[in-house]
Amino acid sequence: MTRLVVVGNGMAGARLVSEVRARDPHIRITVFGAETGRPYNRALLSNVLAGTMTPGQVRMLDAEWYADHAVTALPGVEVTAIDREAQEVLTACGRREPYDVLVLATGSEAVVPPLPGAERAVAFRTMGDCEAILAAAGTARRAVVVGGGLLGVEAARGLAGRGLPVTLLHLAGHLMERQLDAEAGLVLGESLAGLGVEIRTGVTVREILDDGVRLAAGTGTAPGTAGAAASPSGTGESGAGESGAVGEEVVEADLVVLACGVRPVTRLARDAGLAVARGIVVDDEMRTGDPSVFAIGECAEHDGVVYGLVAPAWEQAAVVADLVTATDKTARYRGSRLVTRLKARGVELAAMGETHLTEDEAEIVRFSHRARGAYRKLVIRDGRLVGAILLGETPAVGTVTRLFDHGGPLPADRAGLLFPGLAGGAAADSPVRMPDAARVCQCNNVTKGQIRSCWESGARDVAAVAAATRATTGCGSCRDAVEGIVGWLCEQEGIPV
Ligand SMILES: Cc1cc2nc3c(=O)[nH]c(=O)nc-3n(C[C@H](O)[C@H](O)[C@H](O)COP(=O)(O)OP(=O)(O)OC[C@H]3O[C@@H](n4cnc5c(N)ncnc54)[C@H](O)[C@@H]3O)c2cc1C
Repeated sequence: MTRLVVVGNGMAGARLVSEVRARDPHIRITVFGAETGRPYNRALLSNVLAGTMTPGQVRMLDAEWYADHAVTALPGVEVTAIDREAQEVLTACGRREPYDVLVLATGSEAVVPPLPGAERAVAFRTMGDCEAILAAAGTARRAVVVGGGLLGVEAARGLAGRGLPVTLLHLAGHLMERQLDAEAGLVLGESLAGLGVEIRTGVTVREILDDGVRLAAGTGTAPGTAGAAASPSGTGESGAGESGAVGEEVVEADLVVLACGVRPVTRLARDAGLAVARGIVVDDEMRTGDPSVFAIGECAEHDGVVYGLVAPAWEQAAVVADLVTATDKTARYRGSRLVTRLKARGVELAAMGETHLTEDEAEIVRFSHRARGAYRKLVIRDGRLVGAILLGETPAVGTVTRLFDHGGPLPADRAGLLFPGLAGGAAADSPVRMPDAARVCQCNNVTKGQIRSCWESGARDVAAVAAATRATTGCGSCRDAVEGIVGWLCEQEGIPV
């Protein structure tokens, strides 16, 4: 009987285990997880931080599931080495586990910048981190979040939503610079400022103090709420300026959260002599140079890309499950088109593809209305949508995402795409008009057609659809769309919603 060993019980590892078991009841599965407790949906930690979900609600497989599915799960057990010759993994507690197939799903770890006092701050990556932040937030008077990427923005919004004054410090000139152009970053910053998050971009953090964060002299801007929490060095209540250089500032805070990016966890693979670039290098089968070792999720590098979202990790898990169980020997992973959606109450944002191309490189259609927190941009090349930013509430999200997904030719009326429903414009998104092939849940690749057939088989609410298709169980941002489709189908048949 094939012995499958999985290292890492995060979103990729846990999904792989359930995909393999769903295909093959016999294969022997052992999964090691360095974190204690049940696996959980990491993407939903932002919701736990914001208080819209409890830690229990984001947990996934439990002991009963493992027992019922004959899977040996070893939480809190770190794998420390791979002996490829003997085909065994070694654990921190001295266990040797033999394998026929090994899957590395070790994910990423938070980058902690080498700043003096960094140990006073908390990173934002694991459930443990989230619990530590929440415990500190209970008594904190002010918080600082360092890092204005997706996670930093979600953390800052979450803490502000709990009533804590928050300053978000970001090194780059605008927020989420990887996904957004400068104007979108500015509009996002203004929207967050309206929700109680002070934004300072272009700042360099020098040191984490007991009661704040010291910035390098003369750095930073604070659109809208300039400098409210910052005091010139030596004049702030913290007194931390005493040792600082003239002109340096201290942003006061008794809770400092670091959201400074992640790095793939590759040490095991590297030590075992497998090829590692930024991530563990794999081919289209998600196989490393050793045919019995695969890598999936954020630790893997496919075709030069390390993905940082759930959808690719779960697609990769499905491919490996097909191959390992021989359900589909032709299964291959060909890369993913990514759509990033922000989970921050009061701010709607979807960004996808190549958003930074200029007018010289692509056709750009843009609308900006800063006073309303709205910014929309389409990036078109050869008549196809290659990138988009949709900031602020808009019914265009579904249609634009679909056009990006499929890469098909765009209608001639570009502006109509940004303003669906306007005279002559494209139709507004609605369950009625959505084609069956439209992908509703990006994380789990679930189409409207699948939701419809699930409804036809008796599913009458989001929970039932989720149980049957897994739609809504990734980042959760498609929940409203699924609800809309179910409601519309019920309405058609006169069934009370
Ligand atoms: C706050 C937050 C919000 C996010 N929001 C979104 C979102 O909205 N949409 C989205 O698509 N993505 C989001 N992400 C990213 C998403 O969570 C990751 O892409 C996903 O978790 C990657 O899964 P993974 O299994 O590769 O890695 P992980 O989930 O990090 O799991 C890896 C696991 O392996 C374990 N491990 C590592 N080394 C060992 C070892 N030697 N032995 C045993 N175990 C080991 C780790 O402890 C960890 O539990 C978010 C992430 C965070 C932190």
